[in-house]
Amino acid sequence: MAILVTGGAGYIGSATVELLRDRGESPVVLDNLVYGHRAAVPADVPFYQGDVGDRELVTSIVTKHKIDACIHFAAYAYVGESVKDPSKYFENNTLRTNELLNTLRECGVRRFVFSSTCATYGDPVRIPIDESHPQKPVNPYGWSKFMTERILESYDTAYGLKFVALRYFNAAGATERCGEHHDPETHLIPNVLSAADGELPFVSVFGSDYDTPDGTCIRDYIHIEDLANAHFLALEHLRGGGDSEKINLGNGVGFSVLEVIETARAVTGREIEARMEPRRAGDPPLLIADATKAREVLGWVPKHAGLRSIVESAWNWRLENPNGYSEEL
Ligand code: UDP
Repeated sequence: MAILVTGGAGYIGSATVELLRDRGESPVVLDNLVYGHRAAVPADVPFYQGDVGDRELVTSIVTKHKIDACIHFAAYAYVGESVKDPSKYFENNTLRTNELLNTLRECGVRRFVFSSTCATYGDPVRIPIDESHPQKPVNPYGWSKFMTERILESYDTAYGLKFVALRYFNAAGATERCGEHHDPETHLIPNVLSAADGELPFVSVFGSDYDTPDGTCIRDYIHIEDLANAHFLALEHLRGGGDSEKINLGNGVGFSVLEVIETARAVTGREIEARMEPRRAGDPPLLIADATKAREVLGWVPKHAGLRSIVESAWNWRLENPNGYSEEL
């Protein structure tokens, strides 16, 4: 039996495809390549370029490859863009996911691992954030994922769909093959490394007057290999007859923007100029996961618990792939 991986050409999706292959699974990738990279998917993994809302295409993939589970990454994930153009986010992240779920249901696929986000919590009312923390997203991106979680719950009740929604904190780092190549790039670690290798003249620090020890925002960075492993474990959980779950993925440790920059200076041995700039709209000062449930329910143990190892892996990938993914295969 094979696993449909939507968005398998993206940053976290491709790392998960790699890990699934290593575990002897048979991933099949569906990606529209709007943000994904064809070269991120190994040549021997079946690949389809298309839309998750394309019922005919999804049905034919499921039938041809005898798909019995789906890991759904495909989504737009730019918070700022979601504020400016919410329609794009609800259409793609929520409505097309609903289409995908309906197609899978018709085809009898009843196991679903969903790429959710800590953005479904909105501004934290307590730290660390566990799964019972109130969910009140502060941007359309967060709402688009929040709504999908509610759809999943309803489909479980009504149709017996079993799902695990994995709420990621800050995905970061790289494996040997898979790294971060976004266009445009908005994330902190790749921007800091761009400043290290001269692609950017400096890194902007968005806000240095937050109520945190050094005044900059604190995030819980989690390595993509650990994220990938959690998807595999979630699948195993469902295969073992486990209940539907919503589960946080983070290390439970926070690092400030300045700490990330300092770590990158140590890892790269390069100078990195940091410029203090105004706050970026919609950034909560502090996001740290309580990931106890992931350990208890999935038996998940992150391998890359330290920021240094995460930044090192991202830097190594960058040195090996100075232009990111080549678009030719
Ligand atoms: N950030 C920054 N400079 C950058 C990119 C990000 O200071 O060039 C800050 C951002 O304001 C946030 C933190 O770094 O406080 C992490 O941002 P990122 O976009 O990586 O992830 P987010 O937490 O927004 O999902």
